[in-house]
Amino acid sequence: PAGFEPPYLQNLNPAQRQAVETVDGPVLVLAGAGTGKTRVLTTRLAHILSTRRAWPSQVLTVTFTNRAAREMRERVAHLLGTPTEGWWMGTFHALAARILRRHAELVGLRSNFSILDTDDQIRLIKQLIEADGIDSKRWPAKVLLGVIERWKDRGLTPAKLKPADAGEVAQGRMLQLYVAYQERLRTLNACDFGDLLLHNLTIFQEHAEVLADYQDRFRYILVDEYQDTNVSQYLWLRLLAQKHRNLCCVGDDDQSIYSWRGAEIGNILRFEQDFPGAAVIRLEQNYRSTSHILAAAGGLIAHNQGRLGKTLFTEEQGGDTVVVRTVWDGEEEARWVGDEIETLQRQKVPLNEVAVLVRAGFQMREFEERFLTLGLPYRVIGGPRFYERQEIRDAIAYFRVVAQPDNDLSFERIVNTPKRGLGDATIQLLYQASRALGVPLTEATLRLIETDELKPKPRGALRSLMGDFQRWRAMLETGSHVDMARTLLDESGYTAMWQADKSPEAAGRLDNLKELINAMEEFETLLAFLEHVSLVMENESGKTGPQVTLMTLHAAKGLEFAHVFLPGWEEGVFPNQRALDDGGIAALEEERRLAYVGLTRAKRRAYVAAAANRRIHGQWQNALPSRFIGELPDANVEVTSGTGFGNERFADAAPTRLWTAPAQSGFMRRAPVTIEGSGYEVRERPRPSRSFGIGDRVFHQKFGYGEVRSVDSDKLTIAFDHSGEKRVMDSFVVPAAE
Ligand code: ATP
Ligand code: MG
Repeated sequence: PAGFEPPYLQNLNPAQRQAVETVDGPVLVLAGAGTGKTRVLTTRLAHILSTRRAWPSQVLTVTFTNRAAREMRERVAHLLGTPTEGWWMGTFHALAARILRRHAELVGLRSNFSILDTDDQIRLIKQLIEADGIDSKRWPAKVLLGVIERWKDRGLTPAKLKPADAGEVAQGRMLQLYVAYQERLRTLNACDFGDLLLHNLTIFQEHAEVLADYQDRFRYILVDEYQDTNVSQYLWLRLLAQKHRNLCCVGDDDQSIYSWRGAEIGNILRFEQDFPGAAVIRLEQNYRSTSHILAAAGGLIAHNQGRLGKTLFTEEQGGDTVVVRTVWDGEEEARWVGDEIETLQRQKVPLNEVAVLVRAGFQMREFEERFLTLGLPYRVIGGPRFYERQEIRDAIAYFRVVAQPDNDLSFERIVNTPKRGLGDATIQLLYQASRALGVPLTEATLRLIETDELKPKPRGALRSLMGDFQRWRAMLETGSHVDMARTLLDESGYTAMWQADKSPEAAGRLDNLKELINAMEEFETLLAFLEHVSLVMENESGKTGPQVTLMTLHAAKGLEFAHVFLPGWEEGVFPNQRALDDGGIAALEEERRLAYVGLTRAKRRAYVAAAANRRIHGQWQNALPSRFIGELPDANVEVTSGTGFGNERFADAAPTRLWTAPAQSGFMRRAPVTIEGSGYEVRERPRPSRSFGIGDRVFHQKFGYGEVRSVDSDKLTIAFDHSGEKRVMDSFVVPAAE
């Protein structure tokens, strides 16, 4: 009836409402973070269904994760009281897989085809490389797989390529390899992730009747996080939308963070060309964050060149400035974050409103340790927690057998890892002996190897393993437990096992093992460390209720939290080293967009941290504060220093000095600028006035007192009283107190 207004429309501003009510025809919603894009999409779906324009089975909704799909489905179902069967809602992969299962035979597969993971893909490519005599040193499987995946991202089947397209890659045989790879997959009745979309495209192109069927079915198509679609996903959408042309995509070019997976920002630009007459709607009011957070994020992203540009405002004036904390090292960083979270907890902030977002997985361990020590419940999104990982459990099992020879479970876990040729029969025999003698497995083993119960081969293997354990145990008495741990991982063949493993996860596992050694260094003895691990593991089981969220920035897209911690804003960590080595502006700008995504997750407060020293994979490195810190507008941040900078005079000088952007960013050399239309003015920051001269007495937190010997822009050579001559960053040095 006229004048009736469904309640769900009342929670929208005029622009959002327009985006919801422009139901027919192509619509592109291009808007900044937190402006309600996802809300618009959910409401639009509710609107389409409640106005009976379509049944749930006639709307295709693409979300960024399966979890996002579930949430959206629940919300709409709740809003409308509609049953949720037959909904086409999910990620590109999930939706394409569903279509492919129905028509698998059209591309030579059966409907129960399997989907390979990266592990399997690599193994397959390796076999082909070997068979083809391609030099696998020069052309590692991982690299060649990357080439195939990028082709697939761009919708390119072998038929669409010419041999010259890959140039000299794989000695000119890249296309041949691609063909062979696809053939192998077909014989295995398998496909990889890229194929899901690609096979859909092939089916649609070769079987007009199948395409027509889906084109008829999907009266409305809705797409979230559109900025991260790749070409083949775009082509898929375009084909499916061709009949009804009711395609609505929402996105933000400033949040495009998957170009390394083939996402094409150009898809936003071509939308208006491919769908002439498309309504382009911009949302400008941010409902998520306070003005300081928004202005800080806006000031940061204004440093990117290739932007479509947009205005953003919030009615949430005031609020807190973004906290920038400089700390001594990763440990202090974790301590600070833990303390702040406890303070929030006392202020009755629910923990599920708190997130720690890291650039790289290795940063997580220190936070996990701290949270466990404090008893703060937390969850890791996108992977197992550190101490639950397979390689960590294995290593710990070894350490346990060293320290506690009667730990049967640990012994059983590692006795044949890596493979020592011990079969089930041998293990059974060990257990029998253990029960019969009433002694632990290790003791039983020691006795068994003196008998003829065991065949010579397993007996030899066990004898040498028991000898190893005795030696490692002896090492504990004379040396440090950390040295013992390193030796053990080497001599047991455990490290070698992962080095030989060519799966893509292997490198990460080796990094984790190094990180485990780092963790051990924080304890006096092996027993103290193992005790800690037991407590950790115990804490981990069965926690329910609100938890702090720990995840990577990439995984945080689309989410929001009241309080967001952003640690590790240091050159080489964030922006990460690969982006810096790459040297290209594109890689750096993608890092900056990732920083923008991070900041804009925060509703009430954002906390950025930078450590002066970072132990990366077992090695201490001096770190410079990230250029992104220097790019945050002064007016929106508040800089504080941690205890690592305890010297009072340093505390004075540190902030300005620390958050000055590194010179190579070009920022320092630029005149004051106002970014047109951004609403953010960026000022050049004055260089700190103090500088060091030859002969100055200085103090350095790690090396102590010394005298400056030479000065080279931002680096000093200092003769330290007790640590000899070292090159250090001048930012980490203060004048010695007289
Ligand atoms: P992102 O770019 O991070 O994905 P987004 O544009 O999708 O953000 P939403 O997540 O939809 O933004 O909305 C951000 C927050 O603002 C949510 O908490 C949402 O409920 C709220 N919000 C959106 N629109 C309105 C509105 N008109 N009135 C009140 N709150 C709103
Ligand atoms: Mg969103």
